[in-house]
Amino acid sequence: MRLILLGPPGAGKGTQAKLLSQQFNIPHISTGDILRDEVRENSQLGRRVAEFVKIGELVPDDIAVEVVMHRLAKSDAAGGFILDGFPRTFKQAEELNKALRQLNISIDLIIYFETSLEVSIRRLSGRRVCKGCGANFHLTNMPPKREGICDFCGGELFLRDDDKEETVKKRLAIYQKQTAGLIDYYKKSGVLRKVSGDSEANRLNARLLKMFARQNPAVLPK
Ligand code: AMP
Repeated sequence: MRLILLGPPGAGKGTQAKLLSQQFNIPHISTGDILRDEVRENSQLGRRVAEFVKIGELVPDDIAVEVVMHRLAKSDAAGGFILDGFPRTFKQAEELNKALRQLNISIDLIIYFETSLEVSIRRLSGRRVCKGCGANFHLTNMPPKREGICDFCGGELFLRDDDKEETVKKRLAIYQKQTAGLIDYYKKSGVLRKVSGDSEANRLNARLLKMFARQNPAVLPK
């Protein structure tokens, strides 16, 4: 199964992508996660993108496209994948189309997470990430057992620079300006489906599993 998850920052795409990735045994490809890893490792690419990521601006299209193409070429993506946070611009969508045509594959479903501004802001500003293993928590929706400490590896939890209030507002404005238009762009594809990103995570996951089974009864979680 090949999926694209579309929607504003804080829509819950990452949470659903992680669940679906386990349920269907296909990789979760998050351009944000890949770029943050590069920044953490201080790689050549990481140094090029660090400032964009920190201040919540999109990295240049050619970099985002290269990152995704490189990841899609890995063998674990041959049987399917979940794209989370890509494409984010028309240019990226066009490049993805081109690559998929060349590979002779198509996207099964594009899920648009329609999400209220209020929920997006609440999710992002309450999110805490583990410095050690990258696990996500939320101050109220998914608090760790011990305040400030990761349940999985005992690492310290922190607030991402780009989840700070001012940067969150900017990221949401950038989403409206550069990404939201992709919803209309993909309507023509016939595989766009809308869900409520405001829903609680387990409920939304159940809804998605039902949707996939309806779309293709052969597509059941592994
Ligand atoms: P995310 O975790 O998806 O919110 O992404 C975090 C940051 O990574 C964004 O604010 C951008 O700086 C960068 N980024 C992630 N995906 C893309 C993309 N497809 N195009 C450009 N920049 C991206």
